[in-house]
Amino acid sequence: MSVTIDDPNEGARVLAEMVTAAETVVVFTGAGISTESGIPDFRGPNGLWKKIEPIYYDEFVTSETARLADWKRRFTFRDQIARVEPNLAHLAIARLVARGKVNAVITQNIDGLHARAGVPDERLIEIHGNATYATCLDCGERHELDAAEAAILATGRSPRCGCGGLVKAAVISFGQAMPTREMERAEQAIQEADLFVAVGSSLTVQPAATLPMIAKYDGARLVIVNGEETPLDGLADRVLRGSIGTVFSAL
Ligand code: NAD
Ligand code: ZN
Repeated sequence: MSVTIDDPNEGARVLAEMVTAAETVVVFTGAGISTESGIPDFRGPNGLWKKIEPIYYDEFVTSETARLADWKRRFTFRDQIARVEPNLAHLAIARLVARGKVNAVITQNIDGLHARAGVPDERLIEIHGNATYATCLDCGERHELDAAEAAILATGRSPRCGCGGLVKAAVISFGQAMPTREMERAEQAIQEADLFVAVGSSLTVQPAATLPMIAKYDGARLVIVNGEETPLDGLADRVLRGSIGTVFSAL
C-alpha cells in the first residue's frame, strides 16, 4: 500500500532505512535533482516549459531555422552547467555507487552532473543522452560544442560533419527514438534490484516513466522522492515529499 510522507526530515529517515534494508538499489533521476544546483526543470513550479517551447527532432532535421535555434539553447545550457556544481543528492548517490549499494544510476538528465559527482560510466545510464557534446546524425562521430559554435559564428550555418551529416547535441530530442542500448542496460539493472528510487521526475515522459512500473512488477520496492504529485504515486510503497536535498540528507 502506498504511504505518503510529507515531512522531509521523516522522509530522510525512511529513505535511509529503505536503502540500508535493500540489497541492490537502482536510482532513477529527473530534472528535479538538479534544480538545487541551479538548473531549472521542465515541469516543476519554475519549469522551462512555462517560458519556451520544445524543438522537435523532425523540426531539427528539416529546418535550418530550428537547428540554429536549437544550437543557441545548447550553448546557453553549456554555459549554465559550467557555472554549477553537483549537489548533496548527486554526491550521496555517487557514494552509494562507490559502496556497491547502487548498481545503476538511470537518468533522464543531460547535464552531466552525476558523472561530475563521481558516478563511473559503467554505472551511469543516460537514457536521454548528454548535452556536453554533440554527434553526427549520420556516422555518429563525436563533435565538440565549442567547435560547433565557432563554425556557426564563421558561416552563419548549422555545423556539418566531415561526412556531410548534420551535427546535433548528443541528447534525445522530443520525437527522437530512445537509445536501445541504454534502455536494455536500464532494464537489466532493474531486474537485479530490490529497491527502485525515483528522484525528481514528474514521471510523465515516456518511455522513461515506465521504468518504475517495470521495477514494481519485477518485485522491487518503489520509493518516489518528489516535491509534487506524480501519476505513479499510487504504485509506490513510499512517496517522500519535500526538497530532495533534505530527503537525501541522511544518506
Ligand atoms: P520534470 O521537469 O518533468 O519534473 C521535475 C519534477 O521534479 C517536478 O515534478 C518538480 O516538482 C520536482 N522538483 C523539482 N525540484 C525539486 C526539488 N528541489 N525537490 C523536490 N522536487 C523537485 O523533469 P523530468 O521528469 O526529468 O522530465 C524532464 C525532461 O527534461 C527529462 O527528460 C530531461 O531529459 C530533461 N531536462 C533535463 C534537465 C537537466 O539535465 N538538468 C533540465 C530540464 C529538463
Ligand atoms: Zn558524420
